[in-house]
Amino acid sequence: NRRPAGKSLVQPGFKFEDMGIGGLDNEFSTIFRRAFMSRVFPPAEVERLGIQHVRGMLLYGPPGTGKTLIARQIGKMLNAREPKVINGPEVLNKYVGQSEENIRKLFADAEKEYKEKGDESELHIIIFDELDAVCKQRGTSGGGTGVGDSVVNQLLSKLDGVDQLNNVLLIGMTNRMDMIDEALLRAGRLEVHMEISLPDESGRAQILKIHTKRMRENNILARDVDVEELARLTKNFSGAEINGLVKAASSFAMSKYVTVGTMAAIEKDFAQIKVKQQDFIDALEEVKPLFGVAEEELG
Ligand code: ATP
Repeated sequence: NRRPAGKSLVQPGFKFEDMGIGGLDNEFSTIFRRAFMSRVFPPAEVERLGIQHVRGMLLYGPPGTGKTLIARQIGKMLNAREPKVINGPEVLNKYVGQSEENIRKLFADAEKEYKEKGDESELHIIIFDELDAVCKQRGTSGGGTGVGDSVVNQLLSKLDGVDQLNNVLLIGMTNRMDMIDEALLRAGRLEVHMEISLPDESGRAQILKIHTKRMRENNILARDVDVEELARLTKNFSGAEINGLVKAASSFAMSKYVTVGTMAAIEKDFAQIKVKQQDFIDALEEVKPLFGVAEEELG
């Protein structure tokens, strides 16, 4: 399924609103422009214009803010295959050579396709979550096993070394930018750095709308639910935590239909079930944000 020369990779009719990403419009556009734009052009054009693709990028910021979501959605938009996801702590393996083997496997498909098709190869997105885990060990004397070192070196060689692959975009992710090895951040490596921070009030409203969309469409969301007010009440919540809040609110709504203990369903018409503002207020007592609160209390 080779794409005809001159044909763009982007799926026609793809709309940002449909992507289910709230409050990250600017970040999304910048990431797209910096790391993906060149991939939209047909390979012959890329060569003629002397464009070099970005092969690595780093997204950093608190957990649950949509880093993985953005990477996946851009992949879909470009019709790339489902990203491969690997996790720092998972890669590190106490068995000698196993970590290297894990990395080798991660790049194997891209490597195979690159050998066959060269720059006509499709884009392979590789997400390396918790990248800091492999950096921590690097260079530590005594305690460290040095496994992190070889993993980092292996990654470097795929990005700009002898095994360099032009059909790969490696997206590193971390909550600890300060832990990332500087060697990885240099030009030609994970060269685009982007912070994805906690959403502001309008971002939170967008995320709330996204995660209550189904309920609204199915007439389950009560009319009294005030997304703007909830956005004000969820300061410091990440997108993932807002998702958790919506789940907790619906659990309150459902609990009116089930007697916990006997697990008996209460004689009520399930079709009448509504998630109300009060369910969200109750949920706010239970679901608290992990990040940012301490700073707030101090300041
Ligand atoms: P981690 O650093 O823990 O890997 P992450 O930043 O990659 O976190 P995601 O995996 O993208 O976070 O987010 C987890 C889930 O939280 C998403 O699948 C989505 O349901 C929700 N979510 C997070 N951020 C957003 C957002 N900006 N808009 C909509 N949903 C979001």
